[in-house]
Amino acid sequence: QKYTGMVEDCCCDYETVNNLNGEVLHPSLQELVKTPFFRYFKVKLWCDCPFWPDDGMCRLRDCSVCECPENEFPESFRKPSQRSLSADDFMCQEGKPQAAVDRTVDTRAFRGWTVTDNPWTNDDETDNAEMSYVNLQLNPERYTGYTGPSARRIWDAIYSENCPKYPSEGSCQEERILYKLISGLHSSISIHIASDYLLDEAKNVWGQNLTLLYDRVLQYPERVRNLYFTFLFVLRAVTKATDYLEQAEYETGNPTEDLKTHSLVRQILYNPKFQAACPLPFDEAKLWKGQRGPELKQKIQGQFRNISALMDCVGCEKCRLWGKLQVLGLGTALKILFSDNGHEHLGQTLQLQRNEVIALVNLLNRLSESVKFVHEMGPSVETIIEDN
Ligand code: FAD
Repeated sequence: QKYTGMVEDCCCDYETVNNLNGEVLHPSLQELVKTPFFRYFKVKLWCDCPFWPDDGMCRLRDCSVCECPENEFPESFRKPSQRSLSADDFMCQEGKPQAAVDRTVDTRAFRGWTVTDNPWTNDDETDNAEMSYVNLQLNPERYTGYTGPSARRIWDAIYSENCPKYPSEGSCQEERILYKLISGLHSSISIHIASDYLLDEAKNVWGQNLTLLYDRVLQYPERVRNLYFTFLFVLRAVTKATDYLEQAEYETGNPTEDLKTHSLVRQILYNPKFQAACPLPFDEAKLWKGQRGPELKQKIQGQFRNISALMDCVGCEKCRLWGKLQVLGLGTALKILFSDNGHEHLGQTLQLQRNEVIALVNLLNRLSESVKFVHEMGPSVETIIEDN
């Protein structure tokens, strides 16, 4: 068994996490993210990349097609089911239909939450200009064909400019944690690409790509460990905000669905098995101690904001959607765990936006799916590939 004992820097062991996730969290989260409240995410998809103004891809409003000249943009894009597309139809990966976003809106969804800006993210959440709603159920995170220098440049910038690897001796725990959160999220994105991959473009066949799973994640145990860490970190944020989430309004105008939403939220927050086995998934009180604490928190908040700004440079619309959602989810977890301006007491100061809660829960669900996939597929994939 490769992954045993405590998840590093956390308070639960791998076995407990796998059991709780499989039995309790994953099934409830899967249902919860389908409810009308949790399936619509408000997002500014227009990319306004502040780092590489020379990048033509990010200067037009509809980035999913902006690299393609008009004559390369096939009719079938607008009606994707009409014919299958040949490789020649596309000169740019951003134009692939699997990279485009479906913007179906339910006009009755969402009312009654306060609007506050998240100090950990670059987007101004109080500004509704350019925002649109996206139905997440119609836009699953999966393989999009987004690859090459644009994608690589963003990951490189995230790691090298904002959170260089800190595993060296003497590096401080807080900085390492930012690295681990990003690496865990990166693992989760790669796992979703591997679990829902376009196997045959001509026939539009989708399925699992286990070689990719191994190449990008499993062969680096550190990446798997960081995924578990990120999962527990976000889970701790959710459990810390229990009172808030319990009292929040999940009304969307559909009483049956809304009751179900509330009951699923309670199922996740108040599960006795979970409370007994893993009462404190991560202990945030251990961080920001000492004299440098406040200064360090400011620094890491700034770094995370830069990471959030980088999401505007992601050159594929659907990747940007999920990138923004998950970074907002992580920013919300950080906000819950480390409320800023010295106000540490939840309940007194914590104010969450509806959209932040939607991002947080959807992020937790994505991480939960990744943990489950790695737990179920990992050992057999490793055996097959490492034996050959
Ligand atoms: P990449 O995944 O690009 O990794 C680049 C380098 O980072 C690796 O060579 C390695 O050194 C390091 N690295 C990789 N994983 C980790 C880790 N877990 N921890 C630490 N270091 C690591 N593509 C899609 O098909 N669908 C999507 O939804 C999607 N969403 C994306 C969202 C964002 C924000 C970004 C930046 C990219 C997204 N992509 C998506 C692209 C995808 O993540 C890869 O960049 C692309 O598939 C090319 O992969 P790669 O093999 O070059 O390695």
